[in-house]
Amino acid sequence: MQITFHGAARTVTGSKHLITTNSGLKILLDCGLFQGMGAEADVLNRHFGFNPFDVDILILSHAHIDHSGLIPKLVKDGFKGKIYATPATIDLCRLMLEDSGSIQEADVVYINKRRKRRGESALKALYSEEDAIKAMKFFKPVAYNSWFNINDEVKFQFTDSGHVLGSAAVNLVVKEDGIEKRLFFSADIGRPGDQILRKPEPFPQADYIICESTYGNRLHEPVKNAEGRLLAAVIETCVEKGGKLVIPAFSLDRTQELIYALDRMEHQGILPPIKVFVDSPLSVQTTRVVEDHIECFNSELRDYMKKGDQRPFFFKNLHFVSDVEESKAINLLKEPCIIISSSGMAEAGRIKHHIKNVISSANNTILIVGYCTPTSLGGRLRAGEPEVRIFGETYKVRARVETIDAYSAHADYNEMIQYLSCQDVNQVKKLFLVHGEYEVMVEFKEKLLDAGYRHIMIPEKGESVEL
Ligand SMILES: [Zn+2]
Repeated sequence: MQITFHGAARTVTGSKHLITTNSGLKILLDCGLFQGMGAEADVLNRHFGFNPFDVDILILSHAHIDHSGLIPKLVKDGFKGKIYATPATIDLCRLMLEDSGSIQEADVVYINKRRKRRGESALKALYSEEDAIKAMKFFKPVAYNSWFNINDEVKFQFTDSGHVLGSAAVNLVVKEDGIEKRLFFSADIGRPGDQILRKPEPFPQADYIICESTYGNRLHEPVKNAEGRLLAAVIETCVEKGGKLVIPAFSLDRTQELIYALDRMEHQGILPPIKVFVDSPLSVQTTRVVEDHIECFNSELRDYMKKGDQRPFFFKNLHFVSDVEESKAINLLKEPCIIISSSGMAEAGRIKHHIKNVISSANNTILIVGYCTPTSLGGRLRAGEPEVRIFGETYKVRARVETIDAYSAHADYNEMIQYLSCQDVNQVKKLFLVHGEYEVMVEFKEKLLDAGYRHIMIPEKGESVEL
């Protein structure tokens, strides 16, 4: 069989790897959108590098858009097969792909305005909200830890990768010429100390490994530090200064982690009695999906629920806000409060309005709890820029800006090597590094060589390798 790396090759987005077996079956691992690369991303997203019509099945690791975001286009362009994913991933995709469809439709209007000025022809949206709805019919749920036979030659199993709700690593076995070839695709690897999810679980021995490398050269702050620092930010801002605490957070994962952390503080009686707003329609819907998938929770969270808190993502003083008018009303509020809103990099969405409103007073705090690209609003605040532009106007940054790095959905290099330690390195014929910046991959490769892996490749986009 052969594998071709069509995305997340020497970059962190666009995850897409196509396997062609000797008998001609084409299996796509992930179908992600390239993101955060400006005009280049749009060009990459318009050309798969293969014909979607020829792909027989898609196995999806998780719902993040850089892994799932081109599914509606794949279907629109002729894919007729089945899309296998865990039940939680399917529920999340229903929300996230629809949301992505409406973003694509809005983005193309903006792009076309610029193209018109340059005398270029108008582009169509990559796909629409309706395309996303249509694509959902192709999904089929597959639970963790049970082998699923595609045909007599090919089977796969999902193992929990602990990255986001429903996230899975793919263990694929292909029988060719009487020999079983075992391929493991890590997709994104989570952290062992996640408050909601199980830790990434050991997986069966593989001959070939495709491993992510996002933080292949970094070590994170311990997860247990995060909660104390969050509480300190709440007390200093809301109690001591009477200000507002604004937290940009991704709708999936980070928002629920924050809600659950505040829920536990409330349960212990240490959370001051202030209002907490989760202000983003997608975050509100995503939190409902998370609540519905108890099968993905770790044992500590299940115990917490058994001990009496049946709703770990809900507490007194917590308000979910979907309505636009209600969202605007938060800005008029004079009392101290916590506002959790998306997007996580503060590039779009309601969070920009909230930041604009609190940025000019030293009583307020903007708390950054996730990765932000350097050019995003979150990234510029995080870098300590004294002035930032929001909606075309310049604002002096008088609010305090704080960062907590312990909330990461990706393992650091030690955690990834620990995760891979279930493998006998002597049986691994090749290890491919994907999903990372090239310089990071080079550093991670050195660490893996030290750990005993021998044949490590950093494939380029479009590169094919015979397995
Ligand atoms: Zn991910």
